[in-house]
Amino acid sequence: MRDTAKVTAKGVRRWQSGHPWIYRSDVMTAPDVGPGVVAVLDNRNRFLGWALWSPKSEISLRLLDVDPDAVIDGEWWHEQIAQAASRRIGLETITNAYRIVHGEADGCPSLVCDRYDRWAVVQLMSAGLEVFRAEIVAAIVEVLRVDGILARNDVPLRAKEGLARETVVLHGEVPEEIEVDEYTVRYLAAPWTGQKTGAFLDQRENRHIAGEHARGRALDTFSYHGSFALHLAQKADNVIALDSSEQALARARINADLNGLTNVDFVEANAFDYLRDREREGAEFDFIVLDPPAFAKTRASIPGALRGYKEINLRAMRILAPGGKLFTASCSFHLAKSLFLEMLEEAAADSGRRVAIREVRGQPIDHPEILTIPETSYLKGALLEALD
Ligand code: SAH
Repeated sequence: MRDTAKVTAKGVRRWQSGHPWIYRSDVMTAPDVGPGVVAVLDNRNRFLGWALWSPKSEISLRLLDVDPDAVIDGEWWHEQIAQAASRRIGLETITNAYRIVHGEADGCPSLVCDRYDRWAVVQLMSAGLEVFRAEIVAAIVEVLRVDGILARNDVPLRAKEGLARETVVLHGEVPEEIEVDEYTVRYLAAPWTGQKTGAFLDQRENRHIAGEHARGRALDTFSYHGSFALHLAQKADNVIALDSSEQALARARINADLNGLTNVDFVEANAFDYLRDREREGAEFDFIVLDPPAFAKTRASIPGALRGYKEINLRAMRILAPGGKLFTASCSFHLAKSLFLEMLEEAAADSGRRVAIREVRGQPIDHPEILTIPETSYLKGALLEALD
């Protein structure tokens, strides 16, 4: 039985440049054991580090620790998760829902752990990691003192690892709905059925900023459960929360009620059609949010996605009142920040407006973006203002 992997010089360089993955094509000699932790060696048998081994995945090895004396056990996972949690200290004064472990960015490759009040929702996204399920659950219970842990292991990525897709409780009990408090705005997360782990925690700071700038007539397109709309409604006179999903809007309504808001209207429509129609009738909004789903799901779909992003941004710019502001975002990993900003430049040029860029936005601190690991970074946004 060989529980070591030997990797090419290219694989070594990847680790040395700060990226924790080694692809199948850079594994010269694969371990002949099942998924778990293996020692990784270079072609001269020098020890490089301990890694999670995924026999079926294109991403064969994920670096855990370069210390030859490290033991990857329950204590090791406890230490990693405790360190990640300590990097978030202070966030609990702003919200009761935030990411505790952002995978590779927190040194826990393929693991996501989000805290929702007294519960945690996790995603174990590699075969190697799955082996440590019990240790990880124990560590989360000890560090976060949660009443329950739900695994949202229904992500398609699991199939590539040869793992079952499932949503299961791993500890205690987890309710259908959890009330989130975000800068005093409240909304219900849906850990079992909602997108991601139950809510889009990654837009928290952007929702807060949008809320600070909102006024007059506001429009939240791609509203989902209304999270931006709830923030906008604190300062705007009235807000339209728009989504193509009736189910999503039903939850947005409940969330507006939860906050005692009476100035939010709900519109079920395709955002592309809605923006085009408003432009035709010469409507004006003082604040608009564009937070669409990822249009670019693959590298090949970038050109089509850019056309989509440009269309909605151009139309939104055209229907901004003078002095009106637009918060616009893209969560497509494949669309780099530079391309996103270039797209906005083109939209602004076509809009005929003088559009100022007030802020370029990224991910909040609980979703750290590591410079040497592009995969940790996917969300970008900008706060724009029509000056004329
Ligand atoms: N802004 C939200 C997240 C938006 S998720 C938040 O901060 O929580 C994207 C939403 O866009 C989903 O609710 C989806 O139903 C909606 N959507 C997708 N395509 C759409 C379209 N063409 N028109 C309107 N809504 C759309």
